[in-house]
Amino acid sequence: MTPMKTVFLMPTLPYEVGSLAPAISAETIGYHFGKHLQTYVNNLNNLIAGTEFEESPLEEIAAKATGALANNAGQVLNHTLYFEQLAPAATAPSGALLEAIERDFGSADELKSKLTQAATGLFGSGWAWLCADSEGHLSILQMPNADNPLRHGLKPLLTIDVWEHAYYLDYQNRRPDYVAAIWNIINWRVVEARYGA
Ligand code: MN
Repeated sequence: MTPMKTVFLMPTLPYEVGSLAPAISAETIGYHFGKHLQTYVNNLNNLIAGTEFEESPLEEIAAKATGALANNAGQVLNHTLYFEQLAPAATAPSGALLEAIERDFGSADELKSKLTQAATGLFGSGWAWLCADSEGHLSILQMPNADNPLRHGLKPLLTIDVWEHAYYLDYQNRRPDYVAAIWNIINWRVVEARYGA
């Protein structure tokens, strides 16, 4: 029997393309999810051929690969986490995650304020993250380009994409307006499930 080669597929959006407006328009989802992410998925499938990662899960490639393979696997992972955590209606953190947020940041508002600062202040392209360590302690980190928490031994909980392609059609140069609006479309149930996993 020949080994099973991994083929990565596009994730499915858990909401209608236009349903995140006005925070994120259907046009942005069309390009960002439909074009940018599709390109990263295609590149990843092409790049793993003939490497030691041919049968590896995405998380392992995103954590351990180098060069172009790391960049494309990281972008597939990061975008999958990003699009899955959004929803048309705002919710609020609760349960064990809320307890951890209050312990580590004081309040959910303080967490949002610090993550907003991380996202607006990140120089150039990259991602602002809420992460958890192996003991459940929370941290906020800025990561450039395709970097991701798995490369730092951390669990990704929530991420804000601040590459210009994430907001330029809707907000042009006004990254702070995009970051402010994203709080209206975070699905905290998804973030809680990641924390509990
Ligand atoms: Mn992006």
